[in-house]
Amino acid sequence: MAQPDVGILAIQGDFEAHGRALAQLGARARPVLRSHEIAQLDALVLPGGESTTIAKGIARLGLGDALRAFADSGRPVLGTCAGAILLAKRAESPGTAHEPPPTLGVLDAVAQRNAYGTQVDSFAATVDGDAARGLEGLRCVFIRAPILAELGPGVEVLARVEGRPVLLREGNVMAATFHPELTDDGRVHALLLTG
Ligand code: GLN
Repeated sequence: MAQPDVGILAIQGDFEAHGRALAQLGARARPVLRSHEIAQLDALVLPGGESTTIAKGIARLGLGDALRAFADSGRPVLGTCAGAILLAKRAESPGTAHEPPPTLGVLDAVAQRNAYGTQVDSFAATVDGDAARGLEGLRCVFIRAPILAELGPGVEVLARVEGRPVLLREGNVMAATFHPELTDDGRVHALLLTG
């Protein structure tokens, strides 16, 4: 893709930071909020934020079918943190009475929200990343991060922290439990653009 057209779902969360990271890699990045805009993109980002709020926005704007159709079309999708939760086949809110948000079900994994607990709800770590994809030494910021569990057989783990998967890929769908847009390391966004 010469200058891919990348949409960032702009209901809530840190979509502007994703836009800057993608622009630095030469992509045309723009916020999207409508089904017909989503259908035309080369790649799509579901940003972090609050998954329950984003899920309500998806329902209110009627975007669920367009988002699922985009993922099913084989074009690249990246969900980060809350975005990763929304890609999963199911979300859980362990240890709380909160109703987990409905998800899009395009990634064969279960997302456990806020799974690192209140003591360590935000932290930075250097991941154990797949060297074949140039992901060694990636420094990552986790903010009330989920844990992705019950991974299906088609899911590849591209990076771990303390043995837990933090960057996954299933075909064209990629999920990061951290915030690649908050560091100036563009490797995760580059993977979205180059496959
Ligand atoms: N804890 C948030 C949620 O469950 C995700 C946090 C984030 O995106 N940084 O939606």
